[in-house]
Amino acid sequence: MDKVHRNLIGGKWVDGIGVNENRNPSLPDELIGLYARAGREELDAAVDAARAAQPAWAATTPQARADVLARTGDAILARAHEIGNLLAREEGKPLQEAIGEAHRAGQIFQFFAGEALRMTGLKIDSVRQGVEVDVTRGPLGVVGLITPWNFPIAIPAWKTAPALAAGNAVILKPADLTPGCAHVMAQILLEAGCPPGVFNLVMGSGATLGQALVDNPDVAAISFTGSERVGRQIALGCAAGLKKVQLEMGGKNPMVVMDDADLEMAVKACLNGAFYSTGQRCTASSRLIVQKGIHDAFVAALETSRGALRIGDPLEADTQIGPVVSEAQLAVNLDYVALAAREGCEVRGGERLEREGWFQRPALFIGASNDMRSSREEIFGPCASVIKVADFDEALAVANDTPFGLSSGICTTSLKHATLFRRSSTAGMVMVNLPTAGVDYHVPFGGRKASSLGQREQGPMAMDFYTAVKTAYVSAG
Ligand code: NAP
Ligand code: MG
Repeated sequence: MDKVHRNLIGGKWVDGIGVNENRNPSLPDELIGLYARAGREELDAAVDAARAAQPAWAATTPQARADVLARTGDAILARAHEIGNLLAREEGKPLQEAIGEAHRAGQIFQFFAGEALRMTGLKIDSVRQGVEVDVTRGPLGVVGLITPWNFPIAIPAWKTAPALAAGNAVILKPADLTPGCAHVMAQILLEAGCPPGVFNLVMGSGATLGQALVDNPDVAAISFTGSERVGRQIALGCAAGLKKVQLEMGGKNPMVVMDDADLEMAVKACLNGAFYSTGQRCTASSRLIVQKGIHDAFVAALETSRGALRIGDPLEADTQIGPVVSEAQLAVNLDYVALAAREGCEVRGGERLEREGWFQRPALFIGASNDMRSSREEIFGPCASVIKVADFDEALAVANDTPFGLSSGICTTSLKHATLFRRSSTAGMVMVNLPTAGVDYHVPFGGRKASSLGQREQGPMAMDFYTAVKTAYVSAG
């Protein structure tokens, strides 16, 4: 346990200015590992190494980049159980879900191995005689990636893979709460033949190290996933430095349940969307908007399912809901439960479990209205408001009446309602008869309003952020 997991800078494992204890939220006495914290000097060294390595990486063949990414993807898939086990212990996701996330990270690397070969451009005749126009994509240079704790391998993967595919060099700063999975990913990239300096891992706090990465003039672009508060700050830093920026932030995602819904299906979708992963998904359903005719039956059935949820250690096979990620996040969640009660909701569940670890019973806030703070602010815990509405028009208006716009959903058997909702929802992702959370890895991911800024992540569109377009004019002379 004395071994310190170090930062990866210029192909070498490097100590830092201190050590971070990575702990298990189910068993806070369990130390998972010690992780070095990088300081300003280490960050500057990482940026220098990235700058030095990037031109040669950009000049390799697409095949060479594809090969590194494919080998990385293969190795992550081969080690998905081991990575999933680490993920379940450092973040708290139930083991099967954690393995699934590791698997997804492997698939993402394989997908972007293909994208490295598909950096297509345009060739057009000029409006001028004898001139040809040629539009190509190239890398940005050194890109900084800042990631949250809730998907500690998938998010680092879905930023790193397209960045490398396009020929950029990467500095990744993972969340301090969950550095373990990113550290394993760094090892795997190195073993897969990623050249020294092309991928660098710096671990440490966001306020100091993350901010320094944003402020570094040699970093061309920042891709960030995390809270709206930090996202706004990063956007300001990037504006000051005229950097390209991509922000994926929070949500207060609506799930509409119409009178014409299949009740069983709606309960399953809401139970999953609201509470799985302990509600710690940016796409979680935190506002259940329920039409009045089905409301009481829906609430009764959801209550039965909520009461039967098995909360426990993520490594135990029958656990459905793991712990809250940290003591601080648990305190935030409990404050929101108290707030919802003060605001007049009938609160079911939401209490801390009397056992070791940061466990909380999933909560429903029944009788909520959409203007309550508990209905407007992202909690990021296993809490969902139930808002009763009269009809489809009211449901749609309430669904869209939020500062956020990441994901939305509707449970209905009506083609008309499904179609109108899909067209009129102001979210970046719309689910019909599916939970608001749970997305594919090969299609665009992202939202609108306070949920996202900049280009989309994942799928082929991910390459738009990590590339610069060049228009060349050539005269035959
Ligand atoms: P967070 O507190 O905003 O942190 C995200 C990352 O930013 C962490 O690595 C953090 O470092 C770093 N950071 C903090 N302050 C910084 C600063 N001043 N400059 C640069 N970096 C800084 O978010 P979180 O608590 O980890 O994650 C939860 C949030 O992420 C939720 O709001 C959730 O909705 C959102 N999320 C969004 C998506 C999406 O795709 N839309 C996906 C997943 C999660 P440290 O924490 O290590 O100090
Ligand atoms: Mg945080």
